[in-house]
Amino acid sequence: MATAAPIYGPRNNASLGTARVVPVILALIVGYATYVVIGPLTVSYLLNPPNGVTKRIATGIAIPIVWLFLLLPVAATYLRLLIVVIREPGYTTQGHEDLRKHPSTDFWMRDVFVCDSNGYPIWCQYCLNWKPDRTHHNQDVGRCTLKMDHFCPWVGGVVGERSLKFFLQFLVYAMLLSTYLTAVMAFFVHETLHRNSNVHFYVALGIGAFFLLFTLGMVATSIQYAAVGWTTIEQAGRNDSIHLAVLLPPELQAALNGNMPEMPPPSSRGQDNDNFASEIDDPAHSNYFTNPSTKNWPLRRASRSEYWRGTITYPLFLPTDRPPLPAPEMRTFAILETPRGLNVWDLGSAWRNLGSVFGTKLHHWVLPVRHSPCCDHSSAISFYPMGPQFEDFLEDAGLVQPLPPSRGFGKESTVSEQRRRKRKLERGWQNGERPTGWDASEQARRARKEERRRERDVIS
Ligand SMILES: [Zn+2]
Repeated sequence: MATAAPIYGPRNNASLGTARVVPVILALIVGYATYVVIGPLTVSYLLNPPNGVTKRIATGIAIPIVWLFLLLPVAATYLRLLIVVIREPGYTTQGHEDLRKHPSTDFWMRDVFVCDSNGYPIWCQYCLNWKPDRTHHNQDVGRCTLKMDHFCPWVGGVVGERSLKFFLQFLVYAMLLSTYLTAVMAFFVHETLHRNSNVHFYVALGIGAFFLLFTLGMVATSIQYAAVGWTTIEQAGRNDSIHLAVLLPPELQAALNGNMPEMPPPSSRGQDNDNFASEIDDPAHSNYFTNPSTKNWPLRRASRSEYWRGTITYPLFLPTDRPPLPAPEMRTFAILETPRGLNVWDLGSAWRNLGSVFGTKLHHWVLPVRHSPCCDHSSAISFYPMGPQFEDFLEDAGLVQPLPPSRGFGKESTVSEQRRRKRKLERGWQNGERPTGWDASEQARRARKEERRRERDVIS
């Protein structure tokens, strides 16, 4: 039986066409500015000056050399950016309708992922596939892009996790080049004001000033967003709440999975009734959360939190005709709705947030070669590292034990206590470790440290 080819969402050919033309126009403008700096300014004015103007050889050599020196990184970052945006911009793969029945195990094998109110990953109706965290669908290119930032006609496509670093580098270098062009041209326009000024000087000054203002604004906003750990899209929706599926800590996990009710197949869930927040509504399950005789107080506490929307357990359904072989590992996730404005992706400081885009070494920051550290999705915890706001949220949601209160006599936690606590949380999560109270963290830390040492020994 032949299956019909999947029908994907449309693309906007007009804006794609514009996006292909703009880079050519940009190249022409830069070419023209280079011509003005080398031709009319250096050759015809500084080295072969008109009558009454002194010949300035040193200036005539320095000005075009500095120009080329500043132009080189602009060209390199732009080229890198174009290649990434056109060839491998970080699109997710397009799937087909059948995938809808089985969300990829990639989601359930992690500890946290962004989900809908039923605990399912987010489905893209255009790409017919599941969206990893922070992925957005763009109507212009008709594709989902990982950690999409914005659609940028200046570079001919979508800026996402693979291209944001090169985009920011390009903006900064372009800003430096525009500053230089504006300063040099302003100087010589002023100098030739009372003589027969070369019209090219005015045009180049106008171009320099325009791009200086433009890049200045872009650099300021883009760097600011990157520094707080938000993409442009997330920044626009910063007052929305999101749902997160968070793997329950082991003691809660055991309490639930000892008495797993039989799960309905996913197709019967969430479609008839949007308020049906997974199996927590199952009467067989609900007594964990409501029965006052339940000994498991952390679970009851967690389920009473205002952020708790239910649970979902992987595998989503078990075969009923035979015992499952091998028995799958049950992974139960709490479905939590974050408060508005919470940024789970904020790693705790501007330095860390920028580091996740640019890298950790100086040459990562200045050269358009390596991809951002945030492109690495090998962590078993989440698609993108999460920060202290997420950990505080887990604590508020009752999923991790709050740290013991300060040793003072009943006084509120001191500043140093808060600082110590923050540091502890930051270090824990970002090293791929779970926060205190999540599991036997000390043990896990030791095991991971041991593993890292073994890896190092193998390499060296
Ligand atoms: Zn899509």
